[in-house]
Amino acid sequence: MMGFNFDNSYLSLPDEFYSKIDLNKVANPKLFILNENLAKELNLNIENLKDKEGVEILSGNKKVSGGSYIAQAYAGHQFGYFTMLGDGRAVLIGEHIVDNKRYDIQLKGSGQTPYSRNGDGRAVFGPMLREYLISEAMHKLNIKTTRSLAVVTTGEDVFRYTRKKGAILTRIAKSHIRFGTFEFAQRLLGYEETKLLADYTIKRHYKDLENEEDKYVKFLYEVVKNHAKLVASWQSIGFIHGVMNTDNMTISGETIDYGPCAFMDTFNKNTVFSSIDTQGRYSYKNQPIMAYWNLCRFSESLLLLIDKDKDIAVKKASETVYKFHELFEKNYIKLMKNKLGLIKDNQKDKNLIQNLLDLLEKYEIDYTNFFVNLTYENLDELEIFKIEELNFWKNEYMSVLNSQKISKEEIFDIMKKSNPVFIPRNNIVQDALDEAENGNYTPFMKILKDLENPFDYNEDTKKYSKVPRKTKYPFKTYCGT
Ligand code: AMP
Ligand code: MG
Repeated sequence: MMGFNFDNSYLSLPDEFYSKIDLNKVANPKLFILNENLAKELNLNIENLKDKEGVEILSGNKKVSGGSYIAQAYAGHQFGYFTMLGDGRAVLIGEHIVDNKRYDIQLKGSGQTPYSRNGDGRAVFGPMLREYLISEAMHKLNIKTTRSLAVVTTGEDVFRYTRKKGAILTRIAKSHIRFGTFEFAQRLLGYEETKLLADYTIKRHYKDLENEEDKYVKFLYEVVKNHAKLVASWQSIGFIHGVMNTDNMTISGETIDYGPCAFMDTFNKNTVFSSIDTQGRYSYKNQPIMAYWNLCRFSESLLLLIDKDKDIAVKKASETVYKFHELFEKNYIKLMKNKLGLIKDNQKDKNLIQNLLDLLEKYEIDYTNFFVNLTYENLDELEIFKIEELNFWKNEYMSVLNSQKISKEEIFDIMKKSNPVFIPRNNIVQDALDEAENGNYTPFMKILKDLENPFDYNEDTKKYSKVPRKTKYPFKTYCGT
């Protein structure tokens, strides 16, 4: 009836990898939003999902036949320390197959599981709207991400310092296998279980490697490559994840777990948004370093599979993970060059980018707007280029740009595709979420609509380039989600 087509391959793993979950019913579920475009892509029945039975399913009040209903076990390094975790407030309905592709369909905020520790297993309306909005924004900004199919309000209150409205998000992911799933297998189960998980993951995400020699090293390399690409795309767009713990890193290379994340306004390498990140471990500038650190932890969980000889295994793994730095830089420079319309290679490229970032920071310039202006405005008329140092940079930039001998149209085309006019800025998102929590959904819906085409430059999207007022206190996102 809903169009689900489940195949639950995760159940083929040993029992320790998951726990079967009974329904945790909620009082009065109501559909707040259904992502109809995504539902269409997944070949689901939109009308039925919006109906009473659909909402019962999206709130976890009713099971879909064929679903697996499991909470997954995993561990992870949180802010540097190893901990046992697991889906404490999520349930995997099942793996939906469409066009030969497999998607996890998971309810987040669906109640307690054996991994809940002291948590209530629930989620709050505002943060679930935030995840819905930011994940869809990331998707439209061409950054690999899990997606959001729906938000349902539960009709129940959740307590986070104060009473909040409860909600459940339906999350869609290529899979929910995390670096932490491997750490769990290796540290808390054993060699056999880790091998089974690795073989399962290779079959699911990196099938071409299945019969390769040295397949575990090659698997590690693919994950390194994907994360070099992913984090480069975060850096180029000014996205700060906020909690890059190893349990929040997917093997598939999709961004996951939108908690205290945000987009940077004024360029500052030290920006941190998470209220719990007091040391700045996951600041903007540290993201590539932390991705590398996380990959090191992931690689450690593969050592026994890579080679029986410990020294050989360590050598192979560390050489593979070390390639992250080069891969990251290559991806990042390419993305930044696209933003500047630099199509050909020039030995000045790297300096040009570095000097620009230093100046953006020094003169506290808005990151997104700078590139929008560079793309669409007459540079001679731009105020910022009245600043001597920036004018000097502009002249250098123009000389490299002109030396390319590439048509203006071609340059404009690549810059337009690389420089979003609209990013979900913190102040706009926060205002919309505050309104939504008070029952006014118009601003939230408006942002979602504008998100459809973040690279369109028009009167409507231009208003998003208004730089938020400066406050004495930096913007912080809180984890009490
Ligand atoms: P996160 O910070 O969202 O990545 O979550 C870290 C861990 O805490 C995961 O194991 C979550 O399942 C668990 N968790 C977060 N919130 C809750 C909650 N309200 N109840 C139970 N477990 C939770
Ligand atoms: Mg998490």
